[in-house]
Amino acid sequence: MNIYTSILNHPHYMNEEDRDWVDEDQFNWLPGFDQNEDSDGEYGLSNENNIKLFLDIEQKAKVGFQNAMVSLKPLFESHYFNNVFISIDLIGLLVNGNTLACYNFRDSDPQFGNYYFDIGWRQINSEAKDYVWEHELLHLLDHRLIDRISIYRGSKEIIDIYRYYLLKYREEGFAELYYLLKGKYDNIDNIDKAVDIFRQNITNLKNQIDAESVLDEKILKSYDFYELGPWIMLDLLRTHACNSYEELINETLEKLYSKQIIEESKIQEIIKAALNIDHYFYLEYCTKLIDNKNEKK
Ligand SMILES: [Zn+2]
Repeated sequence: MNIYTSILNHPHYMNEEDRDWVDEDQFNWLPGFDQNEDSDGEYGLSNENNIKLFLDIEQKAKVGFQNAMVSLKPLFESHYFNNVFISIDLIGLLVNGNTLACYNFRDSDPQFGNYYFDIGWRQINSEAKDYVWEHELLHLLDHRLIDRISIYRGSKEIIDIYRYYLLKYREEGFAELYYLLKGKYDNIDNIDKAVDIFRQNITNLKNQIDAESVLDEKILKSYDFYELGPWIMLDLLRTHACNSYEELINETLEKLYSKQIIEESKIQEIIKAALNIDHYFYLEYCTKLIDNKNEKK
């Protein structure tokens, strides 16, 4: 597997003309950035210290990816990796706002083993949240689903927007499974609580659609996908495949609640099972959930 990392607007990847419009101030904030000119007395970005700094950043990105790859290796046994391209965005072009990193499914092509990621400064810096690379690698693993549901993303039909909203919990919930199974959770600390809020969220949205009112942007833009999503996946797995995972999930929940470590093999077994939850099965689960409001597990 070849891993290529590149910093956006790095002087070495640009031709002379393009350099003219690159604003050095874009990089001034970077800790360790040397504001002096280069040895030709011209271009600060290419001064030796900055080239070293960029190299160091690229190296960190590569190591972060490799480490996550090692811990998830068994999940990728039947995967073909040819080239991995990591774009490092220090200037807020691709990665901005609360985003730390992003799996670029549009450019990636599993058939040829080529995969693309965009990451921002926070992902390299120690500010990064734990297991972000694992999250992105799970998106890669889930490429087929992301590709299939992308048809809803651009649609103007209200029913598609609704489906897309629901599927966002499946997409991010799956990717966030590793994080949760590593015992990372805060406000949502219980599966029943998660399912209740999820049911409430989708009921609200469904009511708005039935009343043909304008969809509440706040719901659509919430971050509940990340917090509730992985719990929803565990709830789904309890009854998936004729309850064959029920015992594993119950045992896992007990460990999560009592803050015990879950073995890596169990984590991967759950991830493998969750990967098989396709979008039809998932949407059916959502429908059942709001239809049987009073049914308690
Ligand atoms: Zn994600």
